[in-house]
This record gives sequence, C-alpha cells and structure tokens, in this order.
Amino acid sequence: MKEINQAYEVLSNPEKRRNYDQYGSEGSFGQSASAGGFGQGESIFKDIFDTFFGRGTDYSGQENYSGSRTRTQAGDDVLIDLVLTFKESVLGVKKKISIDLEKACGACRQTGAATTSDIVDCLSCRGRGIVNTIQRTILGTIRNQVTCSQCQGSGKRIKKKCGYCGGKKFTRQKEIIELSIPRGVQPDKRLRYQGIGNDGWYGGGKGDIYVSIKVKDNPYFQRKGNDIHVSLPISFLDAILGGKLKVITLEGIDKAEIAPGTQNGD
Ligand SMILES: [Zn+2]
Ligand SMILES: [Zn+2]
Repeated sequence: MKEINQAYEVLSNPEKRRNYDQYGSEGSFGQSASAGGFGQGESIFKDIFDTFFGRGTDYSGQENYSGSRTRTQAGDDVLIDLVLTFKESVLGVKKKISIDLEKACGACRQTGAATTSDIVDCLSCRGRGIVNTIQRTILGTIRNQVTCSQCQGSGKRIKKKCGYCGGKKFTRQKEIIELSIPRGVQPDKRLRYQGIGNDGWYGGGKGDIYVSIKVKDNPYFQRKGNDIHVSLPISFLDAILGGKLKVITLEGIDKAEIAPGTQNGD
C-alpha cells in the first residue's frame, strides 16, 4: 500500500514524474516498477489505485456480500405527475388515483424461490458471495476479492423460481390511493406522501410517493403569488360613475365595488 501511494504520488505530480522519467528513480518504488519507463504505466496505477480507493470497486460494498439479501430495506420511491384545475389548486382537493405499485411477493417471502429447498449455494463462489481474483501488475501480484457476479454476492442460486413472482420477489399491482392536495399548492411544486409507495425488502417499509403538480390554465383567473387576478370588462359609464358589478370568483358570482373614475387595468 505504501509503495502504491508513493508511485501514485509521483505519477500524479508532473514535476516528480518528469524527474522519474529522466533519472529513473524516485526513492523506493517496487523492484519491478523501476525496471522501465512509465509510458502506459499510469493507467495501470490508476486501476490499482481505484481498486483500493473507490470508483466502482466492490470494496465499499461490503454489505453486498453474502447474506445481504435478507437485509430489510425500504421500498423505492415513486414519482407521478398530477394535473389539477385552477380551482383545485387554490381550494385544495382529495384525488383518487390508480397507480402501479411493487408488492412484496408473499408466496416466496421475497426469496424468489418456489420452495426453500430450491435455494442452494452458488456454484462459482461456493456460497461465499465473493471470489478471489489475481491481478499481475508491474508492482507484483495483487490478490483481490470481488463480489461474485453469478449470484451478485448473495452466495445463493435458485433452482426453481417462485411461480407467483417469477423469481422477481415483487409483483406489480394496481392500487387506488387517495391523495390530499393542500390548499394553495403552487404549480411545479413536488409533494411528498410518506410510506405509501412501493413495498420494501423483507418488511423494510414502503417507499414514498412524490407528486409533481401541474396546474391547468384558466380562462378567467390568473395566479400571482397568493393573489388571484380576474379581468372584468366594464362599460365606459361604469368606469366614470362607479357602481356595484357582478364578478366571477372561484366560489361563484359575487358583487364587486367599482370606484368612480376607475382606469383601465386598475
Ligand atoms: Zn456466487
Ligand atoms: Zn415470489
């Protein structure tokens, strides 16, 4: 590890690297490392480095190793669009909608297998969930453990899949849910409904439903912040003399007081 660190330091520092390329040494690299130039060396180092420090390595995924698939985990969130009328967006509304949700398969208890005896050890990792790899590099041989790709780290193999979910561990089902939309919801607002989304893993709780609100235009009303504007055509005489005129509101017809001398656009 110390050698890799030093090597990487040299390679990622232009000055140190130039020194190395020119004079051939920079302290104590591994034996094999000092044997040649670093023409394509850097990418190899980068690979080694990444193997130890992230970028798609299986090292950070310790919890993916054997037995992981019995961990409880909350269900995935769902995002849906909901179009409201102007009036609904202002006054609030309860909406019943039909939605496809992932349900945990009760037939196999989310094992994906027809029976428990259909769950056997994975052949390529012999049930360990990890496999050893050997990488030969200019630094020597690096032994590495990676998640088994055959079983994705579960260590298990299913001989016969669950007939109900087809081995997917979830089934998709239509459900009617009621969403309570609060008064005065702003267009393009995203509302969160906690714990009514997709089922989780092994009783890990449901995910959330996010509702993205769209509001239809209305021919009479416009919203500006929390105010509602409505246009009212009036006669020349009413504008000069003022009076009480009928005006449309969201809750029906009302009367509006027009002051004498009202200007266009007031
Ligand atoms: Zn395996
Ligand atoms: Zn099933």
